[in-house]
Amino acid sequence: MTIKDIVTAQRTFFQTGATRTVTFRTQQLLKFERALKANEQILFDAIYADLKKSRYDTFTSELSLVYRELSFMMRNMGKWSKKKRMWTNLVNFPARSYVLPEPYGVTYIAGAWNYPYQLTLVPLIDSLAAGNTAVVKPSEVAPQTSAAMAKIINETFAPEYCFAVEGGADAATEILEQKFDYIFFTGGTKIGKIVYEAAAKHLTPVTLELGGKNPAFVLPDCDIATCAKRIVWGKLLNAGQTCVAIDYLLVHSSVEQKLLAEMKSVMERHYPKDAVSENFMAIVNERHVERIQQLIDPKKVYYGGVVDKKNRFIAPTILHNVTFDDDVMKEEIFGPVLAVVRYDDLNSAVKRVKEYPKPLSLYVFGSNNGEKERLFSELSFGGGSQNDAVMYFANDHLPLGGVGSSGMGAYHGVDGFKTFSHYKSIMEKPTWLEFWFLKVPPYSEWKLKILRLLLEKL
Ligand code: NAD
Repeated sequence: MTIKDIVTAQRTFFQTGATRTVTFRTQQLLKFERALKANEQILFDAIYADLKKSRYDTFTSELSLVYRELSFMMRNMGKWSKKKRMWTNLVNFPARSYVLPEPYGVTYIAGAWNYPYQLTLVPLIDSLAAGNTAVVKPSEVAPQTSAAMAKIINETFAPEYCFAVEGGADAATEILEQKFDYIFFTGGTKIGKIVYEAAAKHLTPVTLELGGKNPAFVLPDCDIATCAKRIVWGKLLNAGQTCVAIDYLLVHSSVEQKLLAEMKSVMERHYPKDAVSENFMAIVNERHVERIQQLIDPKKVYYGGVVDKKNRFIAPTILHNVTFDDDVMKEEIFGPVLAVVRYDDLNSAVKRVKEYPKPLSLYVFGSNNGEKERLFSELSFGGGSQNDAVMYFANDHLPLGGVGSSGMGAYHGVDGFKTFSHYKSIMEKPTWLEFWFLKVPPYSEWKLKILRLLLEKL
C-alpha cells in the first residue's frame, strides 16, 4: 500500500463513524497498552541500541509518560467527548447553547528522536483518544526505536485506523503531499517551517512542538545547594538532548563562583567525567557529537570537556565566562554542555534574552518574588518553572507547547484531547418566541434604543 492508499483508506474508515464511539476508542487504547507492555523488552533494547538509554531512564522519562497518558485518556475521554453547556446571551433568548467536540479526521504525527517513545506515542494516544485515525512517522534518526514502534503499531492496529511509516526526509515529503485534517510535528524550527508550509497548501491546522535556547536565571538569593542539583539533573537528563533542558544560565555575579563549585561537585559525585558509563546516555550520532564539540571552547571549560567520538560520548561540561558573542550562544546546544553567563544588572540580562527567538522554556532559580514575577510576566516563552528545571513537562495538568519560534499549540492531558478535537459551537432555538418586529424594517429610533440595550449591555 502506498502512503496515498493508506490516507484514502483511513479517510473512508473515518467516514464510517466507527472511531466516534468512546467504546471503540477505549478498546483501541486498551489494546495498545497491552501491546506496549507485552513488547516492553523490544522497546528497552531498541532505545539502548540507539541512545544507550538505560531501563531506568527509559521507564522514568519515556514509558511511564506513555502509560500515564493512556490511562488518563481512558479515564477522562468519555467526559471530554460530551457536549458542554454554554451561556446564551439575551439577544438570542430563548436558546440552548453548547460546544460539541468532534475528531478532525485523518491526522499525521511526526515524532522526534530524542525521547522517541513519548514524543511519538503521547500525541498518537491523544489523537486516537479524540477519535481520529492516524499516520505516524517516528524519527529515522533513532532507527531501532523507529522500527520497534512501527512493528508494535502495525501489528496492533488495522492500517485504515492507525499506521506507522518509517523513513526520513523522502518519506516525510511524500506524507506531507497528502491532505490531512491535522498535523502534529515535533522537531527543530527549520523542519517545522517546511511542515507548516506543506500544511498551508491544504489549510490543515498544525501543532508544532519546536525548540530553541532555554534560559535559566539564577538570582542572588538562590538556594545554591538544592538548585545546583536540580540544574545539573535537568541539564544532564538524556545527555542534554531534551527540548525543555536549560540551554544557558544567567547567573548573578554574587553567586556565580559558589554555584559553579556546587554544580561541579554534583557532577563529580553522580556523573561520568571522562568515559562512557552505562548510566549516561550517548549522543544520537557522530554528526551531533561533532556539532556539540564545536560549541565547546577549550578556553572556557570550567569542568568536563571530554569528547569520545567513537563511543558518541560527551562528558558533562560546564563552560564559564561565556558571553553572548560566543558560538555556544548562537544555536541550541542540545547536548550535555551548560553555558554560564554572568550578569550584574537584571535589566540588561532581560534585554539580551528578549533579543533571542522566544524559547520553549524559561526557568528562575531564587525566591525573590518581585524578580520572579517580573521574569515570568515580562518574557515570552512556552512554559517553565521556579526552582526546578524540566519537571513541569511531566505535570499532565499543564499544557506543553511553545510560542513564536519554539512552536504553536500544546498537548498533554486534556490539552492533548483538545488539540485533536474541533469544537463545534451550536445554538438550539425553539419556535415559540420570535422578536420579528425588531429584525425587519421599518427601522425606528425606539427599536434602535431597545437593540442598543440588548446588544451593548446584556
Ligand atoms: P529535525 O527538525 O531535524 O527533524 C525532525 C524530523 O523531520 C525527522 O525525523 C525527519 O524525518 C523529518 N524531516 C527531515 N527532513 C524533512 C523534510 N524535508 N520535510 C519534512 N520532514 C523532514 O529535529 P530533530 O533534530 O529530530 O530534533 C531536535 C529539535 O527538536 C530540537 O530543536 C529540539 O528542541 C526540538 N524538539 C522539540 C520538542 C518539543 O516538545 N517542543 C521535543 C523534542 C525536540
